[in-house]
Amino acid sequence: MARKVLVLGEVREGNLRNVSYEAVAAGKLIAEGGEVVAVLIGETVASLGAAMIQYGADRVVTVENEQLKNYTPDGYSQALLAVVNAENPEGIVLGHTALGKDLSPKIASKLGSGLVSDCVNVEVTGGNIVFTRPIYSGKAFEKKIVTDGVIFATIRPNNIPPLEKDESRTGDVASLAVDIKDLRSIIKDVVTKASEGVDLSEAKVIVAGGRGVKSAEGFNALKELANLLGGAVGASRGACDADYCDYSLQIGQTGKVVTPDLYIACGISGAIQHLAGMSNSKVIVAINKDPEANIFNVADYGIVGDLFDVVPLLIEEFKKV
Ligand code: FAD
Repeated sequence: MARKVLVLGEVREGNLRNVSYEAVAAGKLIAEGGEVVAVLIGETVASLGAAMIQYGADRVVTVENEQLKNYTPDGYSQALLAVVNAENPEGIVLGHTALGKDLSPKIASKLGSGLVSDCVNVEVTGGNIVFTRPIYSGKAFEKKIVTDGVIFATIRPNNIPPLEKDESRTGDVASLAVDIKDLRSIIKDVVTKASEGVDLSEAKVIVAGGRGVKSAEGFNALKELANLLGGAVGASRGACDADYCDYSLQIGQTGKVVTPDLYIACGISGAIQHLAGMSNSKVIVAINKDPEANIFNVADYGIVGDLFDVVPLLIEEFKKV
């Protein structure tokens, strides 16, 4: 059954986040040959429309307004709801990002629809759109189908591969004028922390440190290894609580959920709350001096040893490549 599906492109600092293209790919599956309409919200976003089309969207609707320069739940929900009302879609897809997690329940409640959140896979089976999502902190997966109303889903970044970019694709980019009003919160200023290198939630390689790293200085070697591999540094809550690094690096149940191609866990015990954020990584390498550490239960490759010996050896070897 062909459907019209709206897909939100997520804009950060003037650029589209990769999850936007992954959402288009999910939208294509849900549309089953129907139309995928990308929605871009911000102060000036029309120039990003072409990329959404090149990654598979059929056309783009933008909502541009100076009040939408930064994300606010009120502003973005007014904008997205206006597009939903104008387009009347049968499906909606957002990234399961900080923005998507905040915005999607608000939109679903306004529409009176359900919401299948944090999906790691979408497939068409037996005439149904089947969503797979982790439950019990990633210990199991459930499959869901939507039997009534709008098919509304959020997708976990780095799980649904984007379509191949096709620069020959063209499509309409039209703007919808929306009167954004009665904002209960206004962003006066955005103070960004000087982030080093790759965005953690979209990184293909993550080198993460735990309490075993023992100090903030201890993280320097992890940063060097991450840089060599073109990746990002992450941390357990143990390391953040000990003030070895900033909480923005925390991975886990109460931190970021990541799905890189390679996750190197250094001095992390593997508590269930940490595994909830990384156990879906494609390849997990664990370095721990305790052979009984729980992290080895999810690791594809385990190195029993002192990370202060092993990490410098890895750096030395990768420098040769
Ligand atoms: P530890 O458990 O202390 O482990 C350190 C490990 O380092 C040990 O396995 C040790 O053998 C190893 N080690 C020590 N020295 C070396 C060395 N030289 N070389 C190699 N290995 C070494 N945790 C998270 O990570 N993310 C979350 O989002 C999160 N959310 C939570 C939510 C709740 C409600 C609760 C209750 C807890 C949460 N936690 C979370 C905390 C979690 O339970 C653990 O306490 C935490 O993950 C432990 O961090 P760690 O593995 O770095 O430290």
